[in-house]
Amino acid sequence: MQGLMQHGALTLDKIIDHAAQWHGGREVVSRSVEGPIVRTTYREIRDRAKRVSNALLSLGIKPGDRVGTLAWNTGRHMEAWYGIMGIGAVCHTLNPRLFPEQIAWIADHAGDRLIFTDLTFLPIIAAILPRLPHVEHVVVFTDRDHMPGEFPLAGEAPRFKGLLAYEDLIDQHGAECAWGGFDEGTAAGLCYTSGTTGDPKGVMYSHRSNFLHTLITLQPDVMGLSQKDVILPVVPMFHANAWGVAFSAPGSGAKIVMPGPKMDGASIFELLDTEGVTFSAAVPTVWQMLLQHLEATGAELPVLKKVVIGGAACPETIIRAFQETYDVEVVHAWGMTETSPVGTLSVLTDELEKLPYDQQMPYRLKQGRPPLGVELRLTDDDDNLLPHDGQAFGHLKIRGPIIAAEYFRGAGGKILDQDGFFDTGDIATIDEHGFMQITDRAKDVVKSGGEWISTIEIENIAVGHPKAALAAVVGMPHPKWDERPVLLVKLKAGETATKVEFIDFLQGKIAKWWMPDDVIFVDDIPLGATGKIDKKLIRKRLADEGYSLPEAPVQPTPAPPPPPPEPEPVATQTLAAADGGHGAVIYAPEPVEEVEADTVLSAPEPEIAPESELVAAPPPEPEIQQVSATDAIIAEATAIAAAAAPPEKLPEPEAEATAVAEVATPEPEPVQIKAEPEPPLRLREPDPAEPSKPTPVLADAGEALPFAMPITPGKRGKGKAAAKAKSEAAGKASGKPPRWASLYLDLALLIALAPAILAGGGALGVKLGMIPLPLGYTAMTLDWAPRLAFISVATGLIGLIIALSAGFGRLWKGAVLALAITAATFGVMVAAKALGGQSPPIHDVATDWKTPLGFSDAAMAARGGSAEIVVDDPSLPVGSAAYAGRRLAEINAETCPAARPLVSERAPGDVYESIKAAVLASGMTLVTDDPMDGRLEANGSSFWYGLTDDLVVRVRPDARGSRLDMRSIGRDAGPDQGRNCARIGTLMTAVRGQ
Ligand code: AMP
Repeated sequence: MQGLMQHGALTLDKIIDHAAQWHGGREVVSRSVEGPIVRTTYREIRDRAKRVSNALLSLGIKPGDRVGTLAWNTGRHMEAWYGIMGIGAVCHTLNPRLFPEQIAWIADHAGDRLIFTDLTFLPIIAAILPRLPHVEHVVVFTDRDHMPGEFPLAGEAPRFKGLLAYEDLIDQHGAECAWGGFDEGTAAGLCYTSGTTGDPKGVMYSHRSNFLHTLITLQPDVMGLSQKDVILPVVPMFHANAWGVAFSAPGSGAKIVMPGPKMDGASIFELLDTEGVTFSAAVPTVWQMLLQHLEATGAELPVLKKVVIGGAACPETIIRAFQETYDVEVVHAWGMTETSPVGTLSVLTDELEKLPYDQQMPYRLKQGRPPLGVELRLTDDDDNLLPHDGQAFGHLKIRGPIIAAEYFRGAGGKILDQDGFFDTGDIATIDEHGFMQITDRAKDVVKSGGEWISTIEIENIAVGHPKAALAAVVGMPHPKWDERPVLLVKLKAGETATKVEFIDFLQGKIAKWWMPDDVIFVDDIPLGATGKIDKKLIRKRLADEGYSLPEAPVQPTPAPPPPPPEPEPVATQTLAAADGGHGAVIYAPEPVEEVEADTVLSAPEPEIAPESELVAAPPPEPEIQQVSATDAIIAEATAIAAAAAPPEKLPEPEAEATAVAEVATPEPEPVQIKAEPEPPLRLREPDPAEPSKPTPVLADAGEALPFAMPITPGKRGKGKAAAKAKSEAAGKASGKPPRWASLYLDLALLIALAPAILAGGGALGVKLGMIPLPLGYTAMTLDWAPRLAFISVATGLIGLIIALSAGFGRLWKGAVLALAITAATFGVMVAAKALGGQSPPIHDVATDWKTPLGFSDAAMAARGGSAEIVVDDPSLPVGSAAYAGRRLAEINAETCPAARPLVSERAPGDVYESIKAAVLASGMTLVTDDPMDGRLEANGSSFWYGLTDDLVVRVRPDARGSRLDMRSIGRDAGPDQGRNCARIGTLMTAVRGQ
């Protein structure tokens, strides 16, 4: 017998209809891609979504057609969603953080016929369109005024009919359109999994599944949204439907605040604060950046009530910071694209809520319990059910009307077991309170001696170390135990640590046999397109680097006092027994190795950074930003001065010096060249009236030229001292110091001056062509000068002793002057070293791998036979493991803080001409001049030594106009000492000035 109730198909148009009718005036606020905050309402969103539907129909889109969106979270994006779904077409969210090749593959596989996109992503669209035979139209979420002048396609796209401006398009259509009327099982949305195993697979949501998901998320113990809430979904609409918020916010009538392209801590805080946000959702790394911002600024979160954190395991530090410092409730959630995505949430039960706060923490850290509508089960390899005892690890399986039944176009074959459960690929435990805890992805699990080790748990603890920014654990092959865990740590900026510090930190917090065998400090930990650690890539890199486990694991320090540490028995540390037989292992201790954060690995990053990356990479700012002319001059002067003075320590001879300037990721605060080391020290002429003050003083930057080393003051000082001594000698024959003593002091002075004379003479000699470069620069400046400086310390000290014994009253000036000159020389060397340190020597690297800023064949030929080939595969370190495949912005930050981002509102062609004129004016020779591709290459040589530099420039279209990337590379081995930074600073100043 059937029930006798109305059917009422659960189609998504009903959600926005409901919002428009019953919460019509509720605001939808967006940070637009163009910049300003845009305010609209659910009523307007519904009307405009209907116009979108009419526009799509007029462009030939039919029910079932896939329409792509490659866009940020904004009101327009939301309108497009409802406009597409309302007519039975399928909204396919494309993730811009994937590699363009992947986006192309996915859009092609989906058969997208039209793509909505933001201005930001036009370069990606232009690059991939020739590979998308089904796409006819690209609609840009902007108005006519902001449409780009040019849209250079990377090849033939025969069916592509052109770009359309969104506002123009929907203006041409009315707001009357019949929505719905189809079966609730009709496809509504399509989202591809990140494809870490095999090709990406499409999850095809139905109207019904999304509608039910909305109802599920509205349960109080899920997201518990209300029309009183103000919701900020930081999680992107292209990442599992922004966890359903674009449905649940209008469904509940809550105000929604869309962050657009800016997801850094400051921008998110600004929206939280100014819009009165009560609820937000994002991955842990986004929250980490917000918390850092709050800590740095002392700001508060008085209105925010709840944050949902998921997508990756949430560290305890984040939960505690939100709850204890800012009184914000944290809900740790687990889910996946295939589960729409909400699967479980760690909302405490009544019973657990009564526990003291610290005892609640283990449960808050777990991924939690399933809501009504989701069924979970835990099985072993043979599909037997495992107990809910919090101990048994097993395969997490899930079933329900919001869970995928198969992938689009049958990818991966049958994905449900005989009971209709979907294997999530996660390994988990479920405890007696029903709290599920993810211990690993099945493919990332470490199996040691037949037992599973939870890498996620170790990572969570390790990342709580005050010096750790990110941590990852992977398994490495072990001859006896199959695999042993290795901990990779990315330290916070400026931190150094030892392996033992981390092992000590884990002590007592994990089982002893889980203890990583090794700790590797890395520059970066690669993240996938949805912000998750890419362990596959880490394993590949370790394998490529030929990494193998140390013979003996890193040992913790012996037990700390009190009581005073007893020396551990020399031979062994026995690991705790486990079923897998680990108790038998004897690990020989090894001397503690002090290491600085080394650079074993470097991370590849899509140009559009992963979710977590975006926090550090706010979009371009409207105006050209760069060093001021004064700063550039200061930089040039200090660089030249430093180049004339020998650095204390020479670089590795085979390395090359590189400086970079890049514009993709402006820093919130301009980094001033003033922050560089102080200008070289310079002696002021000793004042005869103040014999006790021949101390070095800081020279004015403008005066700090290479030959500012005080030859003249020294001589004058000596002359005056001699004259005075002479006159005194006439009156007091009996007090005359012995001649040998005066001669010795003259010699000491000469030795003190020698390093400066050598460096200065080297520079001038090379400049005048009288001394060959290797002699002037390498030998005289870098090699001999520092040695002489050391000798001069000794001669100065001897001089002081001689002065003491042979008439101090008359001889002290000479001795002190010799020592002071030596001190000044060392000061210059220290400054030079610090300055050189800004641009550590590196090889050519493909820093911007997507459109590599490497050299053309012409430039490579100009560089000569020893030039390194630039490889554009980010996973293969080239020459320098530290820099290969990394974003230019990051390398900039490390090597050239002086280089400023450069984004211009001018057209790319215009900017190209400016930079070309500036390059020519600077005396460089063009090697490549390709305005169509926006690529320019040039050679030049430095003023003093004639050191050859190569410059590569790329001008590209940008949402605001154009964006300029520059990289200057010293061709000769040796320290950079700011030379390339100065070149780039000067060029930028020139571009701005035109
Ligand atoms: P995606 O489909 O890209 O959203 O990825 C889903 C996967 O992310 C899950 O299968 C888990 O492995 C992981 N994941 C999601 N949320 C969590 C969480 N709270 N803790 C640990 N892993 C998580």
